[in-house]
Amino acid sequence: MVQRSLREQRQVGRERGRIDEQRLELERDHDQQRLELDQQPGLDPEHAEHSDHAEHPDAEHPDALGQDLIGQDLIGRMSATILDGKALANQLVGQLRERVGELQTKGVEPCLAVVLVGDDPASQVYVRGKEKRAAEAGIATRDHRLPAETSTRDLLELVDRLNRDPAVHGILVQLPLPAGIDEQRILQAVDPRKDVDGFHPDNLGLLMLGRPRFVACTPQGCMRLIAAAGVDLTGKDALIVGRSNIVGKPMGQLLLQANATVTTAHSKTRDLEALVRRAEVVIAAIGRPEFIRGEWIRAGACVIDVGINRLASGKLVGDVEFEPAKARAGSITPVPGGVGPMTIACLLANVVDAASR
Ligand code: NAP
Repeated sequence: MVQRSLREQRQVGRERGRIDEQRLELERDHDQQRLELDQQPGLDPEHAEHSDHAEHPDAEHPDALGQDLIGQDLIGRMSATILDGKALANQLVGQLRERVGELQTKGVEPCLAVVLVGDDPASQVYVRGKEKRAAEAGIATRDHRLPAETSTRDLLELVDRLNRDPAVHGILVQLPLPAGIDEQRILQAVDPRKDVDGFHPDNLGLLMLGRPRFVACTPQGCMRLIAAAGVDLTGKDALIVGRSNIVGKPMGQLLLQANATVTTAHSKTRDLEALVRRAEVVIAAIGRPEFIRGEWIRAGACVIDVGINRLASGKLVGDVEFEPAKARAGSITPVPGGVGPMTIACLLANVVDAASR
């Protein structure tokens, strides 16, 4: 009896020692991950401080986590790293300013022509925002404001003039265009070498061939955010919700080129929830407020929310239910302050690239 109880005691002691060792190891991992996260550009230090990981090593095995006491402790404290698009965009604009300075010493003044047709208030706000950021990067802008009644022909003439102007490096035609204008014809008329939005069929085709020239700004911004999260996309299950020409489709090409296994969902997809639950990377580009439920998000997933939706209350929200998603994800972009600022910074990066050629 006594011997058995001694054996049991030793057994318990060994077990405790093993648990202490595991705990120490997890704490070391945790500290190391914190250090790595703190060193990554673009992360909000305030949130990184409270975040346990971008990609928790056990996130691949959520069930195993649930059975482990130490793991449960980690789950209890788990909250995603907030991917601060504003900070990352500021960093990128700072780098662009330096590149613009170098170009100026060679006599090149990077210049973006901005074409705004009609008086859509949202478009006016976007254009103002882009011009303001361009000025911060040292990029000159030329404003072309046209009335809503402008014909496709008149707009084509303006685009042609800008195409031929050697002082203009990039042309941005703000979308959407008024109903009477043939949008596709206008986008195709922009010289592909000045198509800094990356919407021209030549540029979309080059992207598909793996030889990108100008990559559409929003997907490019998403890729930079994923990189800032420290996520290696190789072999990862990536889900894009939305198949638009400006976000979903080019996003798919970029993820594929980064060796992710890509699924694209859309309005006819049958079981979106099942796809989201499986995905290690989720790109939401739907345009429906909080459509992707937080509880669907796989533990440790990287969530990039492209959607911008204004609620009746005036509050801006994304396509993902943010708070519950944050509790499960490894990293997540906020709305606002995530993808939006990166889209503008990537547009400016394309202008500087155009001026450098
Ligand atoms: P879009 O052209 O309207 O495309 C929306 C996509 O969502 C479509 O492919 C549609 O599928 C899909 N969809 C709609 N309902 C769905 C459902 N129930 N389940 C699954 N998929 C569904 O929109 P977009 O231009 O790509 O923009 C998407 C969102 O991102 C919008 O909120 C927009 O404001 C925002 N956005 C933000 C930025 C930024 O810089 N942050 C830039 C661009 C866009 P179908 O093809 O089958 O119709």
